[in-house]
Order: sequence, then structure tokens, then C-alpha cells
Amino acid sequence: MADLVIKDLYADVETESGPKQILKGVDLTVRTGEVHAIMGPNGSGKSTLAYSIAGHPKYTITSGSVTLDGVELTELSVDQRAKAGLFLAMQYPVEVPGVSTTNFLRTAKAALDGVAPKVRTWPKEVAASLERLDMDPSFATRSINEGFSGGEKKRGEIVQLDLLDPKVAVLDEIDSGLDIDAVRIVAEGINRYSERGNHGVLLITHYTRILRYVEPTHVHVFVDGHVVEEGGRELADELEVSGYDRYLKAVRA
Ligand code: ADP
Ligand code: MG
Ligand code: MG
Repeated sequence: MADLVIKDLYADVETESGPKQILKGVDLTVRTGEVHAIMGPNGSGKSTLAYSIAGHPKYTITSGSVTLDGVELTELSVDQRAKAGLFLAMQYPVEVPGVSTTNFLRTAKAALDGVAPKVRTWPKEVAASLERLDMDPSFATRSINEGFSGGEKKRGEIVQLDLLDPKVAVLDEIDSGLDIDAVRIVAEGINRYSERGNHGVLLITHYTRILRYVEPTHVHVFVDGHVVEEGGRELADELEVSGYDRYLKAVRA
């Protein structure tokens, strides 16, 4: 099972002038095997949603719940949430100087599975995954994300997804900063993960471009801290034509 259930979620971001409410009653359920696209304009709170689910310390959940297969995540540490099966690909992946991709992923996998991958076979698995994402083998020994281009960081996030194999993947603007070939390669990586079965995907984006390659089962429009409309693929096509204008007008009215 890989069911992520978000119920009436409210969250604040920590700002210099105190907490600011960003999430205003998010309801969203991702069931096993589903691929949900969350689409919304800049500043609508999409990253806040991703960080709140993952437990980033700058975000405080003030009410509501997030469960993964029935386990309440909001009370857990970032590590415990990962252990429960949650994965977040951040909009701006973090550089970790001095830690190679191979070692970082081996440590993460050991922590998640409770067993360390075999030293002898692990580099082969990493190499194979890098190849699937069309990344140079040298990335295995480079410090994770350090000096990576924007696109390389995004591909690297999918390498992590591929190797760590979490239950549920929250992918925050995994398509931003990618050229058209890279969008396809990243999308294929998401599809491989999804098709492996027993996974759920929450794909946050504000462009429909990646949805040419990743077929969403559900599409949500996210404006002003909550979901304002839900539909299928046709909703993304509609947004491509009409944009977010009418939703924004409704918020301002
Ligand atoms: P999105 O990912 O949809 O572009 P974000 O979740 O990044 O939106 O941001 C939502 C809102 O929260 C924005 O208005 C943003 O300016 C605000 N915000 C986020 N972090 C901070 C912060 N540290 N201080 C003040 N405002 C913030
Ligand atoms: Mg943004
Ligand atoms: Mg964002």
C-alpha cells in the first residue's frame, strides 16, 4: 500500500516578522498506483505543501493531518517520515559538500531499509541508475549536488527516487530548469518508478509540459493555499489554454 491522505491541512511558514499562514485547508488523497499533478501559480503554496508534508523545520502545521498508510506523519521527524516511506524531491535540491552520491545514497538506503546495501554491488546499482537518467558515471563520486547544473540536480533527484524506492514520492517542480530532452528523461524515470507498482506520486508543477510524458490520473488546481479544482488530464489541457487567471480572480474577488 502507498496511500497518502492529507486532511484539512493548515500550515504557517516562519518569517522574520513571525509566522505567516500559507496552507489553508488542503484536502488531497493519493492512493496506491495514482499519479496526482498539483498545478498552481507561483506563490500559491505548493512548495509549502511539499515541505510541510516532509517536515521541514521552517513550516509549522497548525491543524489537520497527513497520513501515509495510516501512520500520522505530522508528529514525526524528517527521518521518521522518510522511514515511513515518504520521499521529497525539493524544488531546490541541497548541496552536500564532501559526501559522494554513492555514499549518500548508501547511507540513506541503509537507514530506510535497516540493512546497508552490499559494498560490492552498490556502485553497480548506482551506475545503472545514473545511466538510466542519462548522467555521466562520474556523478557517482562527485559530492551530491555540488556544482551540478539545475538540470543535473533534477536528474539526480530521480536517481535517488529510483534507488531509494519510497512508497510515496512528492516531486516539487522536478521539471523546472530542464530542457526538453531532460524533461522526457526525468518523466521516464517517474514513469518507471510509478509502473514498478505499489507507489504513489504527487507531482507539483506549474507547467503542463511534463504532463505530456507523465500521464496523471488526477489533476488539482492549487491557488491561495488550497485545492480549488480537481479533475483528470483534461483539466491540465484546459489550464494550458486558459492559465490560472480565472482562479486568481476568484481569490481576489
Ligand atoms: P509556490 O511553491 O507555489 O511558488 P511557496 O510555497 O514557495 O509557493 O510560497 C507560498 C507563499 O509563502 C509565497 O507568498 C511566499 O512568498 C511565502 N513565503 C515562503 N517562505 C517565506 C518566508 N521565509 N518569508 C516570507 N514569506 C514566505
Ligand atoms: Mg515558486
Ligand atoms: Mg514552489
